[in-house]
Amino acid sequence: MSEPDADTLDPTSLRTPIVAVLGHVDHGKTSLLDKIRGSAVIEGEAGAITQHIGATAVPLDVISTIAGDLVDPDDFDLPGLLFIDTPGHHSFTTLRSRGGALADIAILVVDVNDGFQPQTLEALDILKRSQTPFIVAANKIDTVPGWNANEDSPINATYDAQSDRVTGRLDESLYEIIGNLSDEGFSADLYWRVQNFQRNVGVVPVSAMTGEGVPDLLAVMMGLSQRYMKAEMEIDVAGPGVGTVLEVKEEKGFGTTIDTVLYDGTVRADDEIVIGGQNDPIVTEVRALLQPRPLAEIRTESRFEKVEEVSAAAGIKVAAPDLEDAMAGAPVRVVRDRDLEEVVREVEAELADIAVDTEEQGVVVKADTLGSLEAMADALDEAEVPIVRAEVGDVAPRDVSVASTAEEPKQRVILGFNVDVLGDADRRAEIDDVTLFTDEVIYQLIEEYEEFVEELERAQQ
Ligand code: GDP
Repeated sequence: MSEPDADTLDPTSLRTPIVAVLGHVDHGKTSLLDKIRGSAVIEGEAGAITQHIGATAVPLDVISTIAGDLVDPDDFDLPGLLFIDTPGHHSFTTLRSRGGALADIAILVVDVNDGFQPQTLEALDILKRSQTPFIVAANKIDTVPGWNANEDSPINATYDAQSDRVTGRLDESLYEIIGNLSDEGFSADLYWRVQNFQRNVGVVPVSAMTGEGVPDLLAVMMGLSQRYMKAEMEIDVAGPGVGTVLEVKEEKGFGTTIDTVLYDGTVRADDEIVIGGQNDPIVTEVRALLQPRPLAEIRTESRFEKVEEVSAAAGIKVAAPDLEDAMAGAPVRVVRDRDLEEVVREVEAELADIAVDTEEQGVVVKADTLGSLEAMADALDEAEVPIVRAEVGDVAPRDVSVASTAEEPKQRVILGFNVDVLGDADRRAEIDDVTLFTDEVIYQLIEEYEEFVEELERAQQ
């Protein structure tokens, strides 16, 4: 069979692209998401947007209203964009689908004052590994002189018309960012000079504060998505749903629920579903599919309204019995007319795919989600640090017991990524001579551990 031709693909098979926002802390990821969400609220989409359930859908007509003449809805077959609500490479790694990243495209936010920082590099590394196409939002241009706000429709203008758009210090900052990207092996340029956004990284000057450049950013996102989705995606939106757990949460009136990003197919209010659990796959039945209610309609009763059916890509809260053991980052699959055993096997296989290899001796690793556990394991593997136990969850006294059995002092260690330390685990660690490291940045955690090992070795000499 020949490859499907990108231009003749049935447009109805294109699903909403999933967009993640990455970047260094304080560079403006949340502000940018809020700005896009806020503009969408003003454009009348309050229902889907006022509350976080993992992802915010911004429909094509709303994007086109925000972006003005930069996005003509007639040019696009996509239903809109689905933004992952929790910014950061942390949620990006959590949101994995079988064989890769869940997000189709990403926005890497870089503060023009601050330039490349450790988490920028970490994010780039993740994007590179997952081969996710991305755009750089060079943020906070309102704080640097040199932005010419009065140019017309920049994205459609020719290079000549654009050349005066950035000057002075902003020009320098942007070129520094482009230079940094090139040091990391990406060919990048200011977006109005980029022809093919899949091959070259477009840098879009924006301000999450004033909203300037946001229309341009959306226009570039739409262009890239359309191209990418046509080339990569053909999805049976009517089939049984496939998704990933983003967060396991107690919800008043509904018990334990899972915020899920559905990236393929459909889920219905009476579906049987299989979910990756702490021990075995959980087989259960949807009790309710919940979407946030528009703010105006929220009374004392519930913040959520029930829906009968949702199609990919979408963020949805699922209420069902037996969700207590569900794990963030684990797969969710609808059974419907398929064989239950087969679906269970698929979930098991997917979990095994993510499972971390452990050895007889090594350090204990705890992380908040499967994706971050996998990222930790990769980083430790690179640093040639063996792992004896790798688990999703907070650091508990029983982790201390495991760590305390290590023969080598450098392995009497627990590394916790984005997790809390429960009960008297600290005190137990002190008594048992186990060293506990916790951090919210993987490379810092590894660095702390490596320093610790160096110190141990120095002390032994
Ligand atoms: P995050 O950690 O990447 O999510 O960053 P935040 O969105 O929380 O932003 C960090 C700080 O930078 C906050 O004080 C924001 O108000 C500020 N900020 C974000 N974007 C802009 C911008 O475009 N211009 C200005 N002047 N400040 C911004």
